[in-house]
Amino acid sequence: MKDIDLSTANPEFRKDIAQKIGLEKIDPCYQCGSCTGVCPVREVVEDFDPRRLIHMVVLGMRQEVLSSDLIWFCCLCNSCYAVCPQGIRFSRIAAELQKLAVDEGYVKQDFLDEFVKINGYLKDLCRRTMFNKVRAGFYGSHKMPCWQKHTKKKV
Ligand code: SF4
Ligand code: SF4
Repeated sequence: MKDIDLSTANPEFRKDIAQKIGLEKIDPCYQCGSCTGVCPVREVVEDFDPRRLIHMVVLGMRQEVLSSDLIWFCCLCNSCYAVCPQGIRFSRIAAELQKLAVDEGYVKQDFLDEFVKINGYLKDLCRRTMFNKVRAGFYGSHKMPCWQKHTKKKV
């Protein structure tokens, strides 16, 4: 993984993203790493790290973030949201980053066409990992009522 280079940092980037999803959805991140620890994609893609991506957004690393393949690997499963002590929903940040990357020409159609092929695998991986974790009682959170409803043991 490359070192973080701040020479081209753009402080407006954090505001751009915050305008879309709300400033309070990014700023409270204190880099605890719980999101990265539970992320099912991280288990198979070593460089994918939601904690680091949030940090890069906060630091204003627009070009590096929007041109990174890694923003496409989030399967939007919300496992990280369930454990984040600050209530940050990385899936929303990822969705906005993907949209910006397309709108500003950071991503080529060729890449998206190729990525579709592994997207189904990632989504299936996330679904299965999350289901198993909820069943095992990993999430005690009220944030995932739909999953708890489907996995609650009958007494
Ligand atoms: S779990 Fe939440 S507070 Fe912790 S690093 Fe991830 S986003 Fe930031
Ligand atoms: S939404 Fe799922 S895949 Fe995306 S960063 Fe969070 S845990 Fe990982």
